[in-house]
Amino acid sequence: MKVGIDLGGSHIAIGLVDDNFEITQKRTYYMSERKHGTVEEYIIDCIAKGINEILDNSSLKMKDIEQIGIAAPGSPRDGHIKNAVNLGIDDFNIAEELNKKLSKNEEIIIKVINDGKSAALAEKKIGSLKEFSDCVFLCIGTGIGGAGFINNEFLRPKRNAGFEFGHMVIKKDGESCNCGNRGCFEAYCSKGKFKSKMQEILNVPGYICAKELIAIIKNNIYNKEVKELLEEYIDNLALGISNIINILEPEAISIGGSMSHYEELIFEGLKEKINNGTYLFNKQNPPQIFSAKAGNDAGIIGATLL
Ligand SMILES: [Zn+2]
Repeated sequence: MKVGIDLGGSHIAIGLVDDNFEITQKRTYYMSERKHGTVEEYIIDCIAKGINEILDNSSLKMKDIEQIGIAAPGSPRDGHIKNAVNLGIDDFNIAEELNKKLSKNEEIIIKVINDGKSAALAEKKIGSLKEFSDCVFLCIGTGIGGAGFINNEFLRPKRNAGFEFGHMVIKKDGESCNCGNRGCFEAYCSKGKFKSKMQEILNVPGYICAKELIAIIKNNIYNKEVKELLEEYIDNLALGISNIINILEPEAISIGGSMSHYEELIFEGLKEKINNGTYLFNKQNPPQIFSAKAGNDAGIIGATLL
């Protein structure tokens, strides 16, 4: 048995994952419920509480847990959460702190992985990429991340996590990006950029869910500005994805993250644009493109797969 933890900006989800990659027990805590202490202390307390409850409930002991995997935003490394802007954490040795809290004697194996890469591992093991040995997972949400597999191997550079698809520059001196550079793929194609530009054109202020916004877009699909924005978004997305294809030559690309809620508006045009080879070097036989399948628990399951 392993424990997988999905640590996000809004919640902490903790799951007991069996050998068939299924979650047999789960606990969720919300960041908004933190009353006192630092965010780091709150995370450690929630994880310890969740794991202890799960163990009590399943008559397991800590020594029965082979490994704890944590999926976190930012660039985690060597058991540390790093540069997790959404959590307000710069550098936190979560593996060490969690070991102090949970283990009396033996050290528990605790691994920390970037959340996009964790979702990629789940997608490869149990989701849409299961049948493909050379493939790419692209997570499009607040930012754009992902991972690549060649010959079924999860590609992991030594120095840094790599596969920063979102910070591939697609336009020199282009729009500014959260990373400090300009013209990055995610400065054009993150869900946030798409949604805020669309809301501006359609004059829809404030929070609105994807389903509602899709309905409004569909009602205005012949509006010149809406059409242009959709075309421009799809073109930039096709450009970025084609660059990835040119480098990795995957057989398939799976797209996850909150942008996949807009699949019905984007995918058809995206596939057409990629398939017609505008930005591809090898124009024959482009890869298959589809949306991710592993679902909301992909972060928990993927965290146990490293
Ligand atoms: Zn950037």
